[in-house]
Amino acid sequence: MRIKVLETGRSEYRKKAVRSKECPFCNPSNLKSQECKSLSGKEWAVIINKYPYMDGNLMIISRRHVEHVSSLNSAEKGEFFEILNGVIEKLGKLFTTNDFNVGLNLGKNAGASVKHLHWQVIPRKNKILNSANIFADLFVITMPPDKLRKIIDKK
Ligand SMILES: [Zn+2]
Repeated sequence: MRIKVLETGRSEYRKKAVRSKECPFCNPSNLKSQECKSLSGKEWAVIINKYPYMDGNLMIISRRHVEHVSSLNSAEKGEFFEILNGVIEKLGKLFTTNDFNVGLNLGKNAGASVKHLHWQVIPRKNKILNSANIFADLFVITMPPDKLRKIIDKK
């Protein structure tokens, strides 16, 4: 059985992002409140997803406003996999898994709500059965994004 859950926060965010001319990833106060500095680099920032698809959902965003892979410069291309590897290692330890979804939605028709290039990184493991998902194909977010950020950046 597959269930769709009404998640008003995400849909409001998508509507606002589509209408707004301001890029949320270029907004310094958003970056300040979402960045996991211990995983970020010079060219790429690692941020929490305020509306996670699943527990541990981080995003890797270019520091420069870039909308297409073809616009990345050599420094950005060179650093990307180093950052991705760091994110995977950290999330793998935190969520005790070697399995991940790493995804890029390129363009509105592909599902991108924000034009600024961003990769979603989501650790995957077997569902933990609890009262909310035992009868349905449903994942429940158990770790608030701000808590994830604090755990990642604690010394
Ligand atoms: Zn931007």
